[in-house]
Amino acid sequence: METDTAEQRLESRRIQPTAMRLRVLNYLSERKAAVSLADLEQHFSNSDRTTLYRTLKTFQEHGVVHQIYDESGSTKYGLCAENCTCSYPDDMHAHFYCTSCENTFCFQNLSIPNINLPDAFQPSYGNFVITGRCPDC
Ligand SMILES: [Zn+2]
Ligand SMILES: [Zn+2]
Repeated sequence: METDTAEQRLESRRIQPTAMRLRVLNYLSERKAAVSLADLEQHFSNSDRTTLYRTLKTFQEHGVVHQIYDESGSTKYGLCAENCTCSYPDDMHAHFYCTSCENTFCFQNLSIPNINLPDAFQPSYGNFVITGRCPDC
């Protein structure tokens, strides 16, 4: 992602584009798979864990990333689509977790089925993960 684009993206989500946030956003957009906090710590080894965690939380609160829970046991963060509002079920999509490389992939254009929940159950989030083996493994 170009610096301008990354900056605009954060500004459009009302996030102050600090150098750290821009670096994390660029890292997220370069990666094919969703990232965990541990991935960030490994990549940004000079930054402390709290800063990285807060960056992810800020991104999440402003709709830049969404959380994915897979079998790896650590929460993954996937980049949201540009116009994402993280609303259920329209912005929910399928994910694929590879048990071999432990990567989780977002399929933004594979929306989840809109199932009819029993009355009075109010959904806010759908964690849709298919587990298996990715093309690289
Ligand atoms: Zn794999
Ligand atoms: Zn996703």
